[in-house]
Amino acid sequence: MKLRILAGLLMLFPFSAGALEIFACEPEWAALARELAGDDANITVATTAFQDPHRLEAKPSLIAAFRGADLLICTGADLEVGWLPLLLRRSGNPQLRPGQPGYFMAADYVRKLELPDRLDRAEGDMHPQGNPHVHLNPHNIARIAKALAERLAQIDPARSADYQRTQSDFLLRWDVAIAAWESTAADLAGLRLVSHHRGFSYLADWLYLEIVADIEPKPGIPPSASHLASLVEQLAPHPPVAIIRTPYTDAKASLWLSDKLGVPALQLPYTVGGGDGTDDLFGLFDQTLRLLGDLPK
Ligand SMILES: [Zn+2]
Repeated sequence: MKLRILAGLLMLFPFSAGALEIFACEPEWAALARELAGDDANITVATTAFQDPHRLEAKPSLIAAFRGADLLICTGADLEVGWLPLLLRRSGNPQLRPGQPGYFMAADYVRKLELPDRLDRAEGDMHPQGNPHVHLNPHNIARIAKALAERLAQIDPARSADYQRTQSDFLLRWDVAIAAWESTAADLAGLRLVSHHRGFSYLADWLYLEIVADIEPKPGIPPSASHLASLVEQLAPHPPVAIIRTPYTDAKASLWLSDKLGVPALQLPYTVGGGDGTDDLFGLFDQTLRLLGDLPK
């Protein structure tokens, strides 16, 4: 009955449909939703570039935003396994449950790297479903944009023509940007880097960067003093060009290793809002490539 009344109201007032309420787990998906849904949508984002997306407190404000959302956009692949199930339970929003159209997991639409031989969280490994940090390959963003535009049209059919148009417009600009990035980054191939966490594997895979070691012995496991000492021993004969980390990573271990090896420690934006000029997805890649390009070769 409620549905029928709603349908009747929409027919009476075809232009009065409410704004779509989107809950994004990470800034990259909020930015993509903004590209596709424009200003018609209200977007709440749960984390910033300065918060570890693996770990988040399910605050009452987040639960309230979650409760009112029509669409959930997260990474999936267990990135948010420490907090998203709690939000789902506490909010009681049936539209955002797994399997519903309102539940959109970006990592479902791309090939995942670093898939383990068997699925478990042995010794605290935070990437049991493969590496979830899929957004730093712009080709993945293109695939996810297509899937997300379809999902938006499914949830909000009144604006399906708009989503088709914004998707085409975004992908046209995105393809031009990818070509430019790949051209300017051609000389980064083979760049040897150490990464704190495996947050940059897709960037490395895209640009043929060589991540020769990780500061974390396993994703999510902090390095011990003996692990750091063994890294110095392993890397000193042929040091990397730099040690990279995300804005949310504690800089201490990177700075210590940087000092021991005599190479720079570099904070990359990692996601939208993670540094100057990274207000959208285009800026995120522009700035990341500029910072890598500025490294002494
Ligand atoms: Zn991770």
